[in-house]
Amino acid sequence: MKIFKKILLITLLPIIFVAMIFAVKMFGTEKSIDGKDQEHIQKYIDGKDGEHIQKYIDGAYYFDGIVIINKSYPASENYAPEQSPVAQNAFEKMKNAAAKDSISLNIVSGYRTFDYQKQLYQKYVERDGKQLADTYSARPGYSEHQTGLTFDLNNASDDFAGTKEAQWIAENCYKFGFIVRYPADKVDITGYEYEPWHVRYVGKELAKYLYDNNLCLEEYFGIDSCYKD
Ligand SMILES: [Zn+2]
Repeated sequence: MKIFKKILLITLLPIIFVAMIFAVKMFGTEKSIDGKDQEHIQKYIDGKDGEHIQKYIDGAYYFDGIVIINKSYPASENYAPEQSPVAQNAFEKMKNAAAKDSISLNIVSGYRTFDYQKQLYQKYVERDGKQLADTYSARPGYSEHQTGLTFDLNNASDDFAGTKEAQWIAENCYKFGFIVRYPADKVDITGYEYEPWHVRYVGKELAKYLYDNNLCLEEYFGIDSCYKD
């Protein structure tokens, strides 16, 4: 009996030992995966290293959860989020703050459906031809107004550039979560002419980051904006 117990112990001990090492290794590996995940999540939050997460959800492209519509990333006909109340509230706050500086801001165009943009674009194509229409109007599915996060303010024409209202928007809109979406020095990157009246809501944090670093959304996410044809 005693010998049998000894043999059993001698046989079992290495197995227990190996099992313990294995368990420690497993635990260790799991820990390092957690660490990597944490790092990845941090990168996702920071969004400053060029590793952005792209998703296509219900007819629109999202980068780090921010919906993008530009000439490379169109939305489908079914993407119809309506006017964002968050963007609307942010605008009201901006409007009130502007009024204190004797600047009057008002919305001339907000949310546009795919169909509305289709009619608009068609009208311009009939009037000026496709090539010219493409320089100032987005094709259906390619208008940022379809996000419900975009407003044209005061006067959506070239006369607006250089006005005190345009200047106020450029200097202050980030404080309310907006960016001037198509700046004068980013025409080749955004694919749009300078539009000092066109603001896009992205939230205060990102808006401030883009403002401080003089970046447009395409630069920030490392994407382009050009029609395929
Ligand atoms: Zn616009």
